[in-house]
Amino acid sequence: MSEPRPEKHDFIRDRIRAELAEGRHGGGIVTRFPPEPNGWPHIGHAKAICTNFGIAREFGGTCHLRFDDTNPEGESMEFVEAIQRDIRWLGWDWGDKLFFASDYYEKYWDAAVKLVNEGLAYVDDQSEEEIRKNRGTVTEAGTPSPFRDRSPAENLELLERMRAGEFDEGRCVLRAKIDMAAPNMKMRDPLIYRIKKMEHYRTGDAWCIYPMYDFAHCLGDAFEGVTHSLCTLEFENNRELYDWFVQKVGFEKEPKQIEFARLNLSHTVMSKRRLVQLVKESHVDGWDDPRMPTLAGMRRRGYPAEAIRNLVDELGLARRDDSTASLGQLENCVRDVLNRTAQRRMAVVDPLKVVITNWPEGRVEQVECENNPENPEDGTRTVPFSGELWIERGDFMEEPPRKFFRLAPGREVRLKHAWFVTCDEVVKDENGEVVELRCSHDPETTGGSAPDGRSPKATLHWVSAAHAIDAEIRDYDTLFTDPNPGRKKADTDFVKTLNPDSLKVIRGAKLEPCLAEAEVGAPIQFLRMGYYVRDSKAEGLVFNRTVGLRDNWAKLAKQQQAGRKGG
Ligand code: ATP
Ligand code: MG
Repeated sequence: MSEPRPEKHDFIRDRIRAELAEGRHGGGIVTRFPPEPNGWPHIGHAKAICTNFGIAREFGGTCHLRFDDTNPEGESMEFVEAIQRDIRWLGWDWGDKLFFASDYYEKYWDAAVKLVNEGLAYVDDQSEEEIRKNRGTVTEAGTPSPFRDRSPAENLELLERMRAGEFDEGRCVLRAKIDMAAPNMKMRDPLIYRIKKMEHYRTGDAWCIYPMYDFAHCLGDAFEGVTHSLCTLEFENNRELYDWFVQKVGFEKEPKQIEFARLNLSHTVMSKRRLVQLVKESHVDGWDDPRMPTLAGMRRRGYPAEAIRNLVDELGLARRDDSTASLGQLENCVRDVLNRTAQRRMAVVDPLKVVITNWPEGRVEQVECENNPENPEDGTRTVPFSGELWIERGDFMEEPPRKFFRLAPGREVRLKHAWFVTCDEVVKDENGEVVELRCSHDPETTGGSAPDGRSPKATLHWVSAAHAIDAEIRDYDTLFTDPNPGRKKADTDFVKTLNPDSLKVIRGAKLEPCLAEAEVGAPIQFLRMGYYVRDSKAEGLVFNRTVGLRDNWAKLAKQQQAGRKGG
C-alpha cells in the first residue's frame, strides 16, 4: 500500500553502509531497543524504537528488545507489557529476540568477579557522600579511596558477603579501579554494584545487590552480540567507560556505541520521573490520557502510528542536539495521514435547530454521501434527511459581517450533498437567544447542485434531528501553557504550568446515525470540524478530537509575527 521509500541517509546509516561495503558484520548487524520498564513509552522512545528497528530492517539485520531492568525501584510488569504493546503498535516486531537484563544477573556477577580477581575492581566502604566528594571536579583530580588497594582476595570475600546480604544498604559498594585523575569523570572509579534490599519484579529477593546501568548496559549488549549500540547524546561521556568494561571483561567483538540527538517536543515533559508524577498525582487520566506524550495517549487521541514514524523520519538523525519538534510539526504529520485515511462523517458539535417549512410532513430522504473524496474506493453511504435538522450554531449570524458567507436571514446556502435552503425567519426565546431557524428548501437542488447552475458561497454540514444520536466530544489543548515546561532540572514545580483548560468536554453534540457504531481506533473526519476518534475507555459515545483540519500553529505564528511588526 505505501510507496517504496527512498534510501535514508544520515551519519549512522552512512557509517553502517560503509562498514558493510568493507565486508564487516558478516553475521549481519544487530541493534537493540533497551528500555527500562519504569514507565510507558513516549514519543521520544518512538525515535529510538524506529531508529533501532528501522536500521536493522533496512540493512537486513536484527533488532533486540531488551528490558534494561537492573534497578528494582519503579520497575514492573505493567510497564513491560505497555512497552511491548506500543512497539507492536508502531509497526515493529522483535521476533524471538526478547531479552531481560535481569536474566543476566549471574553473568554480571561472573564479570564482576573477574574484574575483582584481576585487580580491576574493589569494594569501597566509603559512604555515598564521601565517594561523591572525593570524585574531584572537572579541573581537579579525585582523591583515591583509602580502600582502593585492598587485595583481590579481600575484595572477593567482601563482594561475596555483599551478595549474601551481610551488609546494610550503603555500607559498601563495588567500584571499578580505573583512574581517579581521569579527565572524563565517568572514568573515576565508577560504581559497579550497590546494595539494595528490595524485591525485583522478576527476580524477587534472589539478589540484594544490583548492577549499575553503566556496567549492565554495555555488557548486555556484548552478551547479545549487538554490533551497534545506538543511544542518545547524553551518553557520549559514558562511551569510554562502555568500551572499558567490554574490553576488560574480555569480549573480542565490541559493540560500538553511537550517539544521536534526542527527540524533544514542545509544550510537554518527557522525563519519566515527571510523567510518573503526572499520573500519580492524577493531573491526567492515566498514562494513556490523550494529552500525554506517551504513545498510548497519542493512540487514544487518534494519532496514527504511521504519522509518528513519519515525524521521526522527518526529523532525521543528527549529532546536534536541536531536534525539538514543535507540536505543529507533529500535528502536520498526523493530518497528512488522516486526510488520506479518515472516513468523512457529519457531526454538529454546537447544534442549532433548522425547520424546513416547505418540506413534506414526515418525509425522510436518504442522501448519498461520499466517504472519502481522497480515496474514491471508500465508496458512499446514505444519510437520512428530514424537515428538522441540526446545523452548527456558528454557521448562522443574524447580522453577518462583510466576510461571513454562511447562513443569515434571507440568504441561501447549500446543505452538504443535499438541498439549498434559504433562511426566512429567526425564532428567539424570551432572552433574545436564537433557538430555531425557519428555512425553505429549493426542491430542484437535490444532490447539492441547482439546475440553473447557481452556487451558494457556503456549504454547511447538517444532521437530521429525528435521526441524530447524541455524543460527548472531548477537545484538547496543550497539557502545559509553557512551551518548555520543567526545563530546569530541579524544578519539581513544573505542574504549576499545567494548562487548566487542556480538556474541554462538550456534551450534546448531534451525530449522523452510523456513528453509533463507530469503531475505536478508526479515524473520522467530522466534515469542516476536524479529525476525531472514538474514545477507547469511556462508556457510551465519546469522541476525542485528534487534530484540526488546518495548521493553527502556523496561523498563530503568523499572527504573532504580524503583531510584532505592527508594533
Ligand atoms: P529517563 O527519562 O528516566 O531518563 P529514558 O527515557 O532514558 O528514561 P529508557 O527506558 O532508558 O528511558 O529509554 C530507552 C531508550 O530510549 C534509551 O536508549 C534512550 O536513549 C531512548 N530515549 C529515551 N528518550 C528519548 C528521546 N527523547 N529521544 C530519543 N531517544 C530516547
Ligand atoms: Mg535512560
